[in-house]
Order: sequence, then C-alpha cells, then structure tokens
Amino acid sequence: MKPLEDSYKHKSLRKKLVQTILSKGIRDERVLTAIDLIPRHFFLDNALDEHAYQDKAMPIGNGQTISQPYTVAYQTHHLEVAKGMKVLEIGTGSGYQGCILCALGAQLYTVERLPELLPRAAAMFSKFGFNPQIKIGDGSLGWPEMAPFDRIIVTAAAPGLGKSLWEQLRPGGIILLPMGNKVQIMNKIRKTHDGQPIRETLDSFRFVPLIGSEGYSE
Ligand code: SAM
Repeated sequence: MKPLEDSYKHKSLRKKLVQTILSKGIRDERVLTAIDLIPRHFFLDNALDEHAYQDKAMPIGNGQTISQPYTVAYQTHHLEVAKGMKVLEIGTGSGYQGCILCALGAQLYTVERLPELLPRAAAMFSKFGFNPQIKIGDGSLGWPEMAPFDRIIVTAAAPGLGKSLWEQLRPGGIILLPMGNKVQIMNKIRKTHDGQPIRETLDSFRFVPLIGSEGYSE
C-alpha cells in the first residue's frame, strides 16, 4: 500500500471507530488494522467528511450507499481472507470494502452494475496503490472468465444463492451473501471439496438490492 500524506486527518476519529467495531464484537486484529489504515472519509463527498467515522451507511450517489463500517468489518471477518486469495466482490460501490480486502492481501476482482460509480472507486484503488480487476456489469452472474474464486462477497441484498456465483466458487471456498428482501440474513456458505454447500446463517443487516438476472428485478 502506498504511503499517503493526507491519511493523518481524522486519525483519532478512526481509532474511535475501531473501538466501536471492537465493542460490537469484531476482535479480528487484521480487520481492525485495515479499518484503521484505510481512511473512510476519502470515499465520501466533502460535505460528509465529518460524518465519515460514524458507524453508519452513507450515500455515495445514484441511490447507493457505502456500507456501515461494522458491516464491512463483519463481512471481511467472516470471509476469512488470506493473503493472495482470489476474491470476487459483487457491488464495488465506493470501493471502500474492496480497499479493505486489498489491504488484507486479496487479489481482488470487483463488479459494479452502475458505471457512474466506477471512476471514483477506481481512483480510490489507485490512490492506495491497489490494482484490482474491475468490471461493469451484472454481478449476479459473477465473472465467469476469471473463475474460480477462493472467496465471493456480495455487498447487496440477494434473493438467494444464484447458480452462477455458486458455480464460480472453488471447492473449499466461502461465499458470503446477505439474503432477503427488507431485512437480510447474512449467509456464509462453504463449498466442500466434493462440491456440497455447508450453510451458516449469521446476523441480520439491511443492504440495497442486488439487481440483475440472478438478483432482484429493477
Ligand atoms: N461494497 C460497497 C462499498 O464498499 O462502498 C458498498 C456497496 S452498496 C451497499 C451495493 C452496491 O451493489 C451498489 O453500488 C450497487 O450499485 C451494486 N449492485 C447492485 N446490484 C448489482 C449487480 N447485479 N451487480 C453489481 N453490482 C450491483
């Protein structure tokens, strides 16, 4: 990761945010360090600068949001990413979750449906010196040309586990996706070495919908 001369700003607010996430039960040192390292205010409009370290989802334009920091920490922790793993993220949004994954050493592939959001997210990745593969398209179909993936993280509410994403997960891999309509249950599904799903249902969250062929209709 590149050293950034403007990353000292809001350092103490960032430390407080880390404490808040810790107090909510995320004790994963690697995840907490990444949250401390990646300044969230970079990803928001200047007008929201002061609010960047509240543990809240915030608007990023086009009716979309940057996820709540606790949610980002929660998903990152449950994804069990190790350095060098090939990770597919569905819903690039602001690029914040993607940067956290890159900070953990993921080899990131990220798909966003709305082209308007990408220039800013791409600028964030390069600001930190990260170099993920980025695609505009319907992420409910995954990224078949780049499959298989060790990990898949869906950062929008899905109606269920789509066939495409499941097929693109490597045996031994984990997919994490929030499922449901108004409120979503975080589903963590492992693919066994003989291709069977082992599903864990975790806590409930609220995400914007995954819109696409294997998601919700617009
Ligand atoms: N991970 C993002 C971040 O760190 O800012 C937050 C993502 S936001 C909660 C959900 C994103 O999923 C939105 O940017 C939305 O446009 C995107 N999305 C919805 N349906 C999608 C699809 N079928 N393929 C790819 N992206 C999709």
